[in-house]
Amino acid sequence: MSVREVVQIGDPVLREASRELQPDEIGSPETQGLIDDLIDTRRATHGAGIAANQVGEAVRVAIVEVEEGNPRYPYKPPVPLTVMINPVLEPLGDETVEINEGCLSVPDLRGSLERHLAVRVRYLDRGGVEHEEVRRGLTAGTFQHEVDHLNGTLFVDRADPRTFATWEQFDRHQREQFVRRATRLVDEVGS
Ligand code: ZN
Repeated sequence: MSVREVVQIGDPVLREASRELQPDEIGSPETQGLIDDLIDTRRATHGAGIAANQVGEAVRVAIVEVEEGNPRYPYKPPVPLTVMINPVLEPLGDETVEINEGCLSVPDLRGSLERHLAVRVRYLDRGGVEHEEVRRGLTAGTFQHEVDHLNGTLFVDRADPRTFATWEQFDRHQREQFVRRATRLVDEVGS
């Protein structure tokens, strides 16, 4: 288990569609070691999640985990560790919501984009067991962000470029308004 270097925007691996894992690959030491590394790397960097291609491995594995009071995204509701293999997302309804995001692979930039308000997510866990759950609001946004990575898509592709801000400028000019809106969203739709 180790903290891996996070690949930065411009590296072609972030633009590849990652490949699905075969069932017999899930239990392999390579896959299990990769999952452990993703968990360690997420915890060391305080992202809300991380995808395998962000550590240079183009396979469809991603994790989401948000601890209470996450320093990058303190307004996000906690999400227990969720290890997803071959995740598939399905939007529930047409409703979207504007979310401000950042990314471990896009240093010092945030931007606002539309995400589906609710999604159904299906995936295999690290034991190969199938899961299906519904995620809403900011948490739905996090799941969409991570699955986007597996398709070679970054939040900057979907964001309105006029909303781009460094983290310092976000704090100065956008945070208060966004956190107020985000808190209301979490109250209304949950996670
Ligand atoms: Zn990201």
